[in-house]
Amino acid sequence: MSNIETAFKSPSERERLIEALIAIVGEDFVLSSEDMRQKHSMDTLPENKICSLAIYPSSTSEVQAILKVARDFRCPVWPFSRGNNWGYGTKNALHENAIILILERMNRIIEVNEKLAYAVVEPGVSQKQLNDYLKKNKLKLWMDCTDSTPNGSVLGNSVERGYGYTPYGDHFAHLCGLEVVLPNGDILKTGGEHSNAKTWNTFKWGSGPFIDGLFSQSNLGIVVKAGVWLMPEPEDFQLFSFEINDSKNLPAAIDALRELSLDGIIQCHTHMVNSFQMMSLLDSYPYEKRGDNHYLSETTLSEIRSQFHLPEWSLIGGLYGSKKIAKIRKKSLKNKLGPLGTLEFFDENKINFVRRFAKFYENSSRNQLLFFLASLVKSVISPKPIKLIKLLPEIFDILKGIPNESILASAYFKSKTPPPAQELNPAQDGCGIMWLAPTLPALGSEAETILNIVKPIYQKHSFEFSGCFTLINPRTFFLLLGIFFDPSSNDEKKRAITLYQDLLFNLKEAGFYQYRLGLPSMENFLSHSPEHANFLLNLKASLDPENILAPGRYAKLTKELSK
Ligand SMILES: Cc1cc2nc3c(=O)[nH]c(=O)nc-3n(C[C@H](O)[C@H](O)[C@H](O)COP(=O)(O)OP(=O)(O)OC[C@H]3O[C@@H](n4cnc5c(N)ncnc54)[C@H](O)[C@@H]3O)c2cc1C
Repeated sequence: MSNIETAFKSPSERERLIEALIAIVGEDFVLSSEDMRQKHSMDTLPENKICSLAIYPSSTSEVQAILKVARDFRCPVWPFSRGNNWGYGTKNALHENAIILILERMNRIIEVNEKLAYAVVEPGVSQKQLNDYLKKNKLKLWMDCTDSTPNGSVLGNSVERGYGYTPYGDHFAHLCGLEVVLPNGDILKTGGEHSNAKTWNTFKWGSGPFIDGLFSQSNLGIVVKAGVWLMPEPEDFQLFSFEINDSKNLPAAIDALRELSLDGIIQCHTHMVNSFQMMSLLDSYPYEKRGDNHYLSETTLSEIRSQFHLPEWSLIGGLYGSKKIAKIRKKSLKNKLGPLGTLEFFDENKINFVRRFAKFYENSSRNQLLFFLASLVKSVISPKPIKLIKLLPEIFDILKGIPNESILASAYFKSKTPPPAQELNPAQDGCGIMWLAPTLPALGSEAETILNIVKPIYQKHSFEFSGCFTLINPRTFFLLLGIFFDPSSNDEKKRAITLYQDLLFNLKEAGFYQYRLGLPSMENFLSHSPEHANFLLNLKASLDPENILAPGRYAKLTKELSK
């Protein structure tokens, strides 16, 4: 068993380890000073674990050599592609003193096949890099991106089973063919394992047991290369927005989205946020309005809603395909969603008008007359705040796979300093945000049930409820629960943790399990499923007998902690 808690009690042992690692990647790529240890352990969660060092390999053979050294020194290694997993644990390990392995220097786009619509990438390839590559080379392919950072890793997000918005938004489902370094240093190619297979990146199943899933949300291997399916550029793309002003219509809307999705009318992953989560996109948290309370009262929230003209729930989705099909789809959407709220469509022309107008409005503030005119036009277009109007073209781009930082800025909601103009990094900038993402069957009645569970728990711990229903397949949503907290307040940090644990416990009891875990959820992972837990333990014991690779990740079980 690895030295999980006690790694490097002796300074000389640590020095020897650092020397051995420097011999592999060079001095510049082993960051072990106190400053660097702190920097690499910063997180948006209320608690973090200080690592021993961070290492940046540039090749698969270096990854293999690092694992060998880790085994020799019995020191745990935690792999990250680019390490931007904010809200779930960033690039923290579960225990102090781990080696943090960051693969961002392995950033080659190895191949893009336009006809078969896929790319083969290394873990360091960022969303921005892949999108820029497609655009620069005028390839008629779109990628799917998250609404997190453009610097996020295409592969890292996919192995963690992250989501975007387009029909290709289930990222793990669109990986095809993985190359993995196993804890013992062996290299494994999934998908049939024939080194000359022509369909490595086009046919997922290969032959024999399908094992790709073992390397997703796991601690059984380090993925160093993968095929990613891309979307052929559609003839037509339109964004649709849908607003529910009366919460009573929410269950019916959830049912309508299921039906539209099962019928193939909706093919994308719609996101529907509540008004509080929407506020986080518009302004900083109004601390001055909460008086002596820890949170904003219902009256204050409803005043803010009216001030910003915010509906109870706001949904965004995209229509992809031919113009003919778009017409049919729009009609179905109008029939099903129209009676439940306000539905609007935006094509490229309309969005360009919005984009130009938002720019004009902002620039006009320097000239009184222009500003008067701009305000007049704005009052005709929309009563909504200009920030919200400006957001729409940014979301339009995200739905086309063009990443930007517009949604990421919401992570700074409770931060006392505003987000920088660019290169946002909520962990380094000291923001407080945690996510929980329980899944639910796509039924209005289940949406009601889950809301009835979580809303009182938020209230009990004096936080405002923040939620987003994301359609992840025609039969399932997840409800992304945001816990925004003031990182400078110990009281809020403590309450954020108890809120998280309370939500986790009650959701599990009611049968709502998460699509992806944050570090604070690992502790009791599979507590309701001992057979599953044992199966994983046995696999881990056979593939990683020294328990070197990310011990406890998606597997925190007492057995593996015993020495
Ligand atoms: C405001 C905001 C919005 C967000 N929006 C989204 C969103 O739309 N969709 C979404 O999915 N997430 C979202 N996130 C969460 C997160 O920022 C993204 O998932 C981000 O892509 C993760 O960082 P990364 O891409 O650098 O991956 P990494 O942090 O490198 O990887 C994620 C995890 O996968 C594992 N891993 C990574 N690479 C490998 C590998 N090569 N081999 C084995 N294991 C590996 C690591 O253990 C790591 O913890 C959001 C967060 C915030 C704060």
